[in-house]
Amino acid sequence: MGDLLIRGGTVVTMNASRELLSDGAVAVVDGLIAAVGGFADLAARYPAAEVIGTPESLVTPGYINAHQHLTGDRLIHSCIPDAIDSQVAIFAWAVPVHAAHTGDDDELSATLGAVEALSNGVTCTVEAGTVAHPARVAAALHRVGMRATLGQWGWDIADAPFAAPADEVVDRQRELIGLLPRGGLVEAWVTLVGHDLMSDDLVVRASELARTSGVGMTFHLSPHSGDAVSYLARTGRRPFVHLDDLGVLGEHVLVAHAVHLDDDEVEVVLRTRTAVVSCPWAYLRLAQGVTTAGRHGELFLRGGRLAIGCDAENAGDAVDVLRAAALFVGLERDRAGDAFSITAHHALELLTIRGAEAIGKADVIGSLEVGKQADVVVHDTRGPQWLPMSTDPILQLVWASDGRSVSDVVVAGRHVVSGGRCISVDIDSLRRQALQRRDHLLAVRNI
Ligand SMILES: [Zn+2]
Repeated sequence: MGDLLIRGGTVVTMNASRELLSDGAVAVVDGLIAAVGGFADLAARYPAAEVIGTPESLVTPGYINAHQHLTGDRLIHSCIPDAIDSQVAIFAWAVPVHAAHTGDDDELSATLGAVEALSNGVTCTVEAGTVAHPARVAAALHRVGMRATLGQWGWDIADAPFAAPADEVVDRQRELIGLLPRGGLVEAWVTLVGHDLMSDDLVVRASELARTSGVGMTFHLSPHSGDAVSYLARTGRRPFVHLDDLGVLGEHVLVAHAVHLDDDEVEVVLRTRTAVVSCPWAYLRLAQGVTTAGRHGELFLRGGRLAIGCDAENAGDAVDVLRAAALFVGLERDRAGDAFSITAHHALELLTIRGAEAIGKADVIGSLEVGKQADVVVHDTRGPQWLPMSTDPILQLVWASDGRSVSDVVVAGRHVVSGGRCISVDIDSLRRQALQRRDHLLAVRNI
């Protein structure tokens, strides 16, 4: 891997002082950021480096998508009708399709999802959990060149599809951590489905495993009001209060959703420093009540750890975190009746440095600073949405643009998107296979 110079008319560092450099560059050596400064200076210091970007480029840190399903939905992308009940969507669509996935399907699915994500500037994905073939998902991510955490789903509730005893679920998680240890491009996280699909015994042991292994833990909770109803019936307490009493929550935990929280639960999330990932398109697509019940803006403004996600290809559909972050800001401003507190600049923070903090990786990614991993996005600002270029390019990036203006992406120093196309795999060669597998999986669910 040769040295790189990633050049931009504007370089958005997201360092502590949120410095923007004019006619700047990022020098990359051995996959790490070696220098950030003026282009002319760095070009003199690194004369042999390959130059990516132009004076018309806007350079940012790579974006973090903190909740993304890489298997199950991708091969039936946008096929689950949006006019059916969510229980029908899960049990008549998601479960049979997931059950029919082969290892090849999981690898193909993750490949397609990662290519779309990279093309939109996502350089780090927290995978939401796969059912059967996590090693194949990891293989796809390595090949495409996506930084990621991933896990094998497990749940131990009687009569649930794919359920297994807690022992077996925890052993599987431990095995995957052994296979994909912390610090690699793709690393294992303890990953449960969540909701009310985990016994107290399982969630306590899973959290303990994450703590002792030094990895993160993620699961779904309270995207709708149903989880609170189940927990109140089973435990007499609301979900976050119950999990706090069990000692499960903490800095190692990233909860997907946490939309329906009461005041006590908001305090629990803030006190335990538990991170939350907001997936606003999914809440709107599935009518989950975020516009009335959501507390994410409040968590963010009170210093909570928050990140943005795109969820699944039938609940948000597009793997473009810029769209999701703009929507998050818009929803929170409207819901709070406050057009000033949460801004486009906050949106970019959530996709970069604050997102990195939420997933426990702010020491290695999230900003363009010397010594960090070279995860870098280049936007081409010659497109019509950038005309004329704003005096505040971050405002324009969030409100006027999206992933379509991404021209180049570098992950850990590897150039994986060039001219707006993923160059690590040939997506065209996968097109026919993706359609064949889609038809096969749709036929399986109709049998
Ligand atoms: Zn999810």
